[in-house]
Amino acid sequence: MTVLVINSGSSSIKYQLIDPVSGDSLAKGLVERIGESTSHLEHEVGGESFELDQAIADHAEGLTLVINMFNTHGPSLAEAGIKAVGHRVVQGGKYFNKAALITDEVQQLIDDLSPLGPLHNPAHLKGIKVAREMFDVPNVAVFDTAFFQSLPNESATYAIDRAVAEKYQIRRYGAHGTSHQFVSGQVSQMLDREDLKQIVLHLGNGASASAVVNGKAVDTSMGLTPLEGLVMGGRTGDIDPAAVFHLVRQAGMSIDEIDTLFNKQSGLKGLAGDNDMRQVWKLADEGDTNAQEALEVYVHRLIHYIGAYTAVMGGLDALTFTAGAGENDSRLRERVCERLAPFGVKLDLEKNSVRSKEARVISTEDSAVTVCVVPTNEELAIARQAMEII
Ligand code: ADP
Repeated sequence: MTVLVINSGSSSIKYQLIDPVSGDSLAKGLVERIGESTSHLEHEVGGESFELDQAIADHAEGLTLVINMFNTHGPSLAEAGIKAVGHRVVQGGKYFNKAALITDEVQQLIDDLSPLGPLHNPAHLKGIKVAREMFDVPNVAVFDTAFFQSLPNESATYAIDRAVAEKYQIRRYGAHGTSHQFVSGQVSQMLDREDLKQIVLHLGNGASASAVVNGKAVDTSMGLTPLEGLVMGGRTGDIDPAAVFHLVRQAGMSIDEIDTLFNKQSGLKGLAGDNDMRQVWKLADEGDTNAQEALEVYVHRLIHYIGAYTAVMGGLDALTFTAGAGENDSRLRERVCERLAPFGVKLDLEKNSVRSKEARVISTEDSAVTVCVVPTNEELAIARQAMEII
């Protein structure tokens, strides 16, 4: 039994064939630069990688070539027992508090939500449309926002004129929800406790924090869009919205220019000149003061959210690091936990330094908060949610 998980971008299709029970990944791959003359397809199976370089006109042709790859290099889709196709969808707006079987109506709603997810939803729809035509199994949409539809009103509501908010659907939707739900669930399982006050720090190129009480999200740092919150690879995270007025009035910048500045040229990239945390550490170690300051701002923002969420929840049982930097960067985790020492957080430095793909506890037995590292696996989470829905 398998699920084919698809993450369709505007010019790309990422896919993975997963056994939702064992969690095994049977094959995965990527089609990129669709619509250009230099399109590229890479299919990985059993540790081997097969590549194809040819112009791929559109998503339909891309997916046809992916199916050919499966037929030629395996595993055979006919024998893999595909039960569903699970699609990652970034913006589910107020309509979806869980995954949904994709019908014409659901497809239309994903389309209707495009103004709230202009970079993502139209791109997801390209993949959804062709997959619905090509695969004779149910297609399921798994929304990045769904986990945060349970946010209490007080954390989802911005203090803006109600009529404007209502008309333009302005509220905190959050993002990375599939990861926060999966990781907080893994922590619950690992600690064998449902009644937990948790903070999950998803620190990849995009970064977000969530507060989760008894399995339900009660706050999250991303907002109307993924721009709000933590310092990210290229995004500002929190910034006074008046900076926009200022840049329009004083610098004569257009809204699109500011959008690009805030979403792509800021964060670590803006402060240190590079959006990759590994490179920022390297520069900082070499004495680059901009990189050193970037790390200070990054950690400060994390501490700010950890403090806020602990107060919001009235306590903290488990603090978990996940995604690229969260899973791999022991120095970053050490810096964060050092700052939490006054609150009784004690990191086990030896456990923290171990590199592993397993979920693990890295605090000492007597730490006031259990600190964990849990590898996120959004594809597996999508596969499992798709199976639940069908
Ligand atoms: P995405 O948000 O693109 O899915 P990932 O979760 O893969 O990203 O995280 C990518 C980021 O993780 C990189 O930009 C890099 O900053 C960081 N990262 C990966 N490995 C390490 C490492 N060993 N040390 C520090 N940072 C790392």
